[in-house]
Amino acid sequence: MNGWLCIAGLGPGDAALVTPEVTAAIDAATDVVGYIPYVARITPRAGLTLHPSDNRVELDRAAAALAMAAEGRQVVVVSSGDPGVFAMASAVFEALENRPEWQQLDIRVLPGITAMLAAAARAGAPLGHDFCTINLSDNLKPASLIEARVRAAAEADFAMAFYNPRSASRPDTFGRILALLRGICGPDRLITFARAVSTPDEQIRTVTLAEATPEMADMRTVVLVGNAATRRVGRFVYTPRSAV
Ligand code: SAH
Repeated sequence: MNGWLCIAGLGPGDAALVTPEVTAAIDAATDVVGYIPYVARITPRAGLTLHPSDNRVELDRAAAALAMAAEGRQVVVVSSGDPGVFAMASAVFEALENRPEWQQLDIRVLPGITAMLAAAARAGAPLGHDFCTINLSDNLKPASLIEARVRAAAEADFAMAFYNPRSASRPDTFGRILALLRGICGPDRLITFARAVSTPDEQIRTVTLAEATPEMADMRTVVLVGNAATRRVGRFVYTPRSAV
C-alpha cells in the first residue's frame, strides 16, 4: 500500500469537536506522531503505533513522520486545535524544503477547530468583526517583535486573540502586554480569558482591562481582547459586524 501523511487537528479537547475527516484518517493510519498530550488523545488499537514526543522537537518529529510515509506507512501527525495555527503543519513543510524526494508524497492538511474559535463561541461573538491572532511565546521570535505586533493591532482597533499567553519561563511578559493594551485601548476594554475550552476544566471569564491580571492566564488559556465596539449583551460578549 502507498504511504501517505495527514497533518490533522484534534480540536480544542472535546471528542465531539474532532471532524469526521480527522477521525477517518486516524482510523486508517498505521502510525500517529505528535506531542505527548495530543497523542494521548488517540485510542490505542491493534495495527496502530503511537509515537509521542516532547514539545521542542517539531522539525525532527516532522522529518520522522515524512520518512515513515516515504517507507509506505500511513501516518497522521496530530496537533491540538488546527494544525496550521502555531502547530505542526508548518513544521512538516519546513522539513520538506530540502528534500525533493519527499515533495511528491501524498500529503494532506486536515483542519481542526482552533482554540480561539471554540473560545469565541463560548463567550458569544467577540471576534465578529476584523481580528488578528498573535502567539505570545518568544520561543521562535523576539519579545520586541511580539510587542510591536500587539501595539500595531491595538492601534488599528483589531480585536485580538493571544495564544500561549503566559509560561513559567517568561512570567513577566504577559503583564507588560496587559499594560501596553491598557495604555492604547483604555481601562474599559473587554478581555476574555478562556481556559481549557471544551474540557472538564473549562473556565471562561470576561473582565475589563482595568480588572485583568496576568494570573488570569496560563498555558491552557487563550485570551480574546475586544475592539472599541465590543460589548456585553446579557451573559454574552459580542463585537458588532459593522464598524460604522
Ligand atoms: N494548534 C492549536 C494551538 C497550539 S498553541 C490550536 O489551533 O488551537 C497552544 C496554545 O493554544 C495554548 O497555550 C492556548 O493558548 C491555546 N489552546 C489550545 N487548546 C486550548 C483550549 N482547549 N482552551 C484554551 N486555549 C487553548
